[in-house]
Amino acid sequence: MKWRCGGCGAKYTTEEYLKLKQGLSKDNDEIDEATGVPKHGYIGICSCGYKFHNENWYIQDKFKAGGKNICISTVDMELEQIGGMYYETVIFDVDKSKEDHMTLILSKYHRRHKTKKEARDYHIEVVERVKDDLNEKTLVE
Ligand SMILES: [Zn+2]
Repeated sequence: MKWRCGGCGAKYTTEEYLKLKQGLSKDNDEIDEATGVPKHGYIGICSCGYKFHNENWYIQDKFKAGGKNICISTVDMELEQIGGMYYETVIFDVDKSKEDHMTLILSKYHRRHKTKKEARDYHIEVVERVKDDLNEKTLVE
């Protein structure tokens, strides 16, 4: 499993990743007085200047379907997953996620992808499929 820079594509093992120059995870972060560590922690900065976890590519679509507030999000995870997957599409109910941040609904649509193109194509497709699916279910009920 390797980390991959979303800017230049450089790959790092976790050991190498931890040796990268560190920066604040948020520019306006505050230092925790008790620990002396920034409240949001440190992030790695690639030699090209790309900030991990801050600049990762993503697409997000929010819409109402079947009476639910849906959010479909496709992100560059930056960390390789099994099978060389770097991107992930998740679908969740915005209202439910207030209680549980990552409540996954319609998990059958959850998918990981190898390339940005696959990720983008799937994202566009699944937005339509989820709308159709939820709107149809409402008509049947
Ligand atoms: Zn880079």
